[in-house]
Amino acid sequence: MKQLTDKEKYDLKRKLEELKACKGQHTELISLYIPPTRQISDVMAYLRNEYSESSNIKSKTTRKNVLSAIESIMSRLRYFKTPPPNGLAVFVGHKNIGSDQTEMVAYLIEPPLPITTFLYRCDSSFYLEPLEEMLAEDEIYGLFLIDRRECTIGVLRGKRVEILSHLTSRVPGKHGRGGQSQRRFERLTEIAAHEWFVECGEKISNIFLKEKNLKGIFVGGPGPTKQYFVDSNYLHHEIQKKIIAVLDTGYTDESGIRELVSAASEVMSNLKIAKEKNIVKRFLQEVTNKNKSRAVYGEEEVRKALNMGAVDTLLLSEDLRNYRISFKCPACGYTMEKTVEESKLEKFEPPNCPKCENPTQMVMEEKKDLIDELSELAEETGAKVELISRDSDEGDALYRAFGGIAGILRYNIE
Ligand code: ZN
Repeated sequence: MKQLTDKEKYDLKRKLEELKACKGQHTELISLYIPPTRQISDVMAYLRNEYSESSNIKSKTTRKNVLSAIESIMSRLRYFKTPPPNGLAVFVGHKNIGSDQTEMVAYLIEPPLPITTFLYRCDSSFYLEPLEEMLAEDEIYGLFLIDRRECTIGVLRGKRVEILSHLTSRVPGKHGRGGQSQRRFERLTEIAAHEWFVECGEKISNIFLKEKNLKGIFVGGPGPTKQYFVDSNYLHHEIQKKIIAVLDTGYTDESGIRELVSAASEVMSNLKIAKEKNIVKRFLQEVTNKNKSRAVYGEEEVRKALNMGAVDTLLLSEDLRNYRISFKCPACGYTMEKTVEESKLEKFEPPNCPKCENPTQMVMEEKKDLIDELSELAEETGAKVELISRDSDEGDALYRAFGGIAGILRYNIE
């Protein structure tokens, strides 16, 4: 199956966030999935049938809303001779906007992967599972850390690390307590250690056997115990053969998992998380390079550098939730742009025109996701765009310390 690009994933993720936020007052939101092989005329016939069935809905408002949603879908589908290459997902209905008010919304989405099954559903929320499945991560690696005291099990999904289980042992320390015979103590310790390894082996195997598409496993921990554990067949054979590398970490807890991911990134530089870490590291190196730094950050600086065509790589945090809005003055025609955070959008008022003497409020012309807007600007000027998650420490630093917008330059521009 085709791998989605970061941008395709981001676009779909944002669309799903919007769709998920739509709630109907009753079962009046329609979701329609059309596979590329389905004839539009078939879909129209299906909708005509749904239309006549929906005329029987008892509640007057619900009936009115459902019928108008179906009409709206049919009028939109008239523009298609055939479905787009990957099919079409349609979401139409009256969403709740508070105080008993509703607003009609309509989304037509050409998904990045083909729709496989025709589906029509009318419910109080949109049915999104087929699109969500397209976002499912296919680069999955198992992670575990083990020594005689602790075992932490996690998984790396693309760039995201999840901790799945943490076990602690009752294996006594190496040194005997006074009064006990040393030999007897050692024997009991070895029995306890064996039981501990059996317990861990079963837990690790059970967890990883449930993970479909597990590409490989990285093992970590301090000292020689981890290698002993791996060599002594405590793991299920299917799991055993997926081990890629046994690596040293200082810890066996959650922070050890982060160490293990860093160590794994060095071994396998084609891991998604490794690529992301390396790009941000390159940027951070440039930031600390006092002499002719080739780093810029912050929206204004980056925009300036993009407009100069000086940016080699644009780094954007996937968690940015901002819009670029353009305004026009109705009196003098002056236009300007402004970036507004998503959370402040609802209460946002367009500014007064700075050119007109009498206070004249400007009118909103266009609203664009900031990531889309900056990506387009980058493409026009030949800069590469990298969407950076906050899953790695480096990605988190980009978001927190640099506002999630940064660039590596082709040359120093001071
Ligand atoms: Zn004006």
